[in-house]
Amino acid sequence: MGSTAKATVTGFICRLCSEQKKVVTHLYTNRAKKLRLMEKIKLLPISVDKYDNLPKSICDQCVSRLEAQYDLLQKIRRSNTIHHSHRQYHSNGRCPIECPLHGLDDPPLSEVDAEESE
Ligand SMILES: [Zn+2]
Ligand SMILES: [Zn+2]
Repeated sequence: MGSTAKATVTGFICRLCSEQKKVVTHLYTNRAKKLRLMEKIKLLPISVDKYDNLPKSICDQCVSRLEAQYDLLQKIRRSNTIHHSHRQYHSNGRCPIECPLHGLDDPPLSEVDAEESE
């Protein structure tokens, strides 16, 4: 601990939002490794290379956005599994009690429309 470079005067440019921030996390530090930042960045439409001459730091705000996005993706993946088993449970169009989606219904489309005009 203690080897992390601290921003003193000007700050660093964040790779994701291109804003200058005082508190950033360098992508090749232990902290970034612990946060699995690289793994999370791989889900974005950018590629980061150690020698690409672009900023290698990410601001705290973007870190928490990344975490939220990663979270969402994990949830969607879990949800996908549920949907998959939902489909497997259904051979005759009925949803048995064992199904994780049993008893869940989307609101009818007419109700969704009504909510919008409120
Ligand atoms: Zn940022
Ligand atoms: Zn089902």
